[in-house]
Formats: sequence, structure tokens, C-alpha cells
Amino acid sequence: MLNFTVGPVMSSETVCAVGAEQVPYFRTPEFSEVMIENEYLIKKFAKAGNDGRVVFMTGSGTASMEAAVINFFTAKDKVLVIDGGSFGHRFVEILEIHEVPHAVIKPEFGHNITAEQLAEFDGQGFTGFLVNLNETSVGVLYDINLISDFCRRNDIFLVVDSISSFLCDPFNMEELNVQAMITGSQKALACPPGISVIAMSSAAVERVYSNKPKALYLDLKLALKNGERGQTPFTCAVGILRQINARLKEIDLAGGVQSEINRIGRLAEYFRKRIKEEKFPFEIISDSLSNAITPLRPVNGRSAYDIFTILKNEYGIWICPNGGELKENVFRVGHIGALAESDFDILIKAMRDMRSRGLL
Ligand SMILES: *Cc1c(COP(=O)(O)O)cnc(C)c1O
Repeated sequence: MLNFTVGPVMSSETVCAVGAEQVPYFRTPEFSEVMIENEYLIKKFAKAGNDGRVVFMTGSGTASMEAAVINFFTAKDKVLVIDGGSFGHRFVEILEIHEVPHAVIKPEFGHNITAEQLAEFDGQGFTGFLVNLNETSVGVLYDINLISDFCRRNDIFLVVDSISSFLCDPFNMEELNVQAMITGSQKALACPPGISVIAMSSAAVERVYSNKPKALYLDLKLALKNGERGQTPFTCAVGILRQINARLKEIDLAGGVQSEINRIGRLAEYFRKRIKEEKFPFEIISDSLSNAITPLRPVNGRSAYDIFTILKNEYGIWICPNGGELKENVFRVGHIGALAESDFDILIKAMRDMRSRGLL
């Protein structure tokens, strides 16, 4: 299998080797050490600051999106949310379910947000901001500097879902005044799905301790408190957390977060250059790309979903289909996980072959 989806993605041999081991009992000093190191390395990579904290939730990214909403915001808040695709829309749904007052910014399809769009909401008493930094469903990377400036001048608590952007695009929590950042195990962390991560500033930690969400499992107070000694309140996905530890150390040893961002950036650039050279009948649908993925639309009317299916069934290559109304129009190629240029050569070769068969 050769996997270019946006998660789960290909894992390194080191990560796979840890996955093949027995899962140990976890209420031990040994596992606490692993968790304390995990927290330290995520803080380092997210630039969360010395007094920041990180919690590891057992549950996919959406669990941490919901935890963020209910722990950071209440019915007294007024939250602005960018709804530019299925992940932005998920935040809107979570806000609705938990009855947090909110307003929605809808960027144009495939487009970044603009300073003018944000300026409309200046001085209106907003207290929170939610954004999916890379709206993975359409591959739009929002301008975090613009958002950060807006939040600073309006004194707004900024929460960033960076699930598909962390380790792919430059990001600095402290500099951007981001109070909480969410990521997940199956995107650029390139581990199995099942763990999501919330990095918090000290102000975010304070906010968690002052709120009383109507939840037990997603109450971040418990995660923070237990995390102080490298533990989790409930049985966690121990095996995945050990794989995350191996992966974080692997990134650290290979030069750290910037090297990883550069590596993924080079792969994205290589793939985008190659599809242009080949003059494949696709167009990139986003005007603001993350290094994580390239979202493509067949321009000759072919079904994007058929291209996905043929590559999977006949070539053993997985690209990422879209769902819903974009199913026939858009597919995505991920650049995250244990991939090299030679893997993209294999994908290009398969696409060439499809073209010669009249299937592209
Ligand atoms: C993948 C992803 C999520 C999380 O989805 P899960 O399926 O719950 O892991 C959330 N936001 C973004 C931007 C994502 O790319």
C-alpha cells in the first residue's frame, strides 16, 4: 500500500516497530516519563512557552475540538468561527449543541479570508475565535497572522485547530498569541488514529480551571491535573502514546520541527511541479495552500471519485477522496507521513498510465 491520504498516513519503521510491541500497563513511573517527554516535545514544537501545558485525549481530533469548545467557552462568550468547509462546519455544530453564542465567517470557496471580512467584526464584543488553520476538506490554509492581529486588537481568546497543519506549516503559539492549539495523531504526527492533543497557554489553563463543562471524559481539568505527574485520568490509548513518543523523538533528532516542515514543504513543491510538467488535466482549487495537501479538481469532467477508486483498486495507491457535494469534483493528495520523492514518482507514473488508458 502506498498512502497519500490525509490520515491515517504512512508511519515510519520506528513507529511501526513500537506498534508491534505488547501494550504495557500504564500506571507506572516508566509510562509517566514517556508522557512527560511527549508534553515537553509538543510544547517545544508548537512553541507553547515554558508555562504552557499539553494534554493528550484518547479520541480522534473531533474529541479535542469539542473539549476545547466546552472547556474554553460558555454561554457568556461570543465566538467567531470560520466555516469554510466540513471541519469549520463541525465547530459550528459543536457551538450550536453546547449553546455557545457565535457568528460565522464564510470564506469564498477555495479562498483565504480577507482583512475586510475580519474588519466587519471589529469592536463587536467577540470573546473567542475558532479556526481550522488548514481547512483540510478544501485545502485552504488561512492567514494566521491576519487572524492573530484581529484577535489581539479585539482581546479575543484564539483557539486554533491545527490538526492537519501542525508540523507542516510554520506556527508559533507564543508569537501569534494563540491560547490553544489542537492536533491529532493520524495527520503529520503519522501515528495511528486515536489520540488528539491540546496545547495550551497559561491563560488557557486558567480558563479551564475556572469553567465547569457538563462533561466528565472531556473535562480538561482532570487531564491537566493528572498530566502533572505524566498520567491520564482514564485508560488512554497507551500504545499510540508510545508511538507518538517514538515519532516526536525521531523528529527532534532529525533537526526538529523546522526540518520536518521543510521536508514536507519540499515534497509538496515536488508534487505540484511534477503535475504541472505532466500537464495532467487537474487544477488546484485553493488560492492558499498548506504544505500538507494539494486539493485538485479534474478539469475535463472526469469523476474525482473514480480516479481515487481506480488508483486504489488497480494500482494499490491511495489518494484522498472528498465526501458530500465535492465527491465527484475534488480529490486531495497528501504530503504528510513517511513519504519520499520516489513515492510521488510512483504516483505520477500511475497517473500517466491511467492517462494512456484514457482514464484520466
Ligand atoms: C482530520 C481533521 C480533524 C479531526 O478529525 P477526526 O476524524 O476527528 O480525527 C479536525 N480538523 C481538521 C482540520 C482535520 O484535518
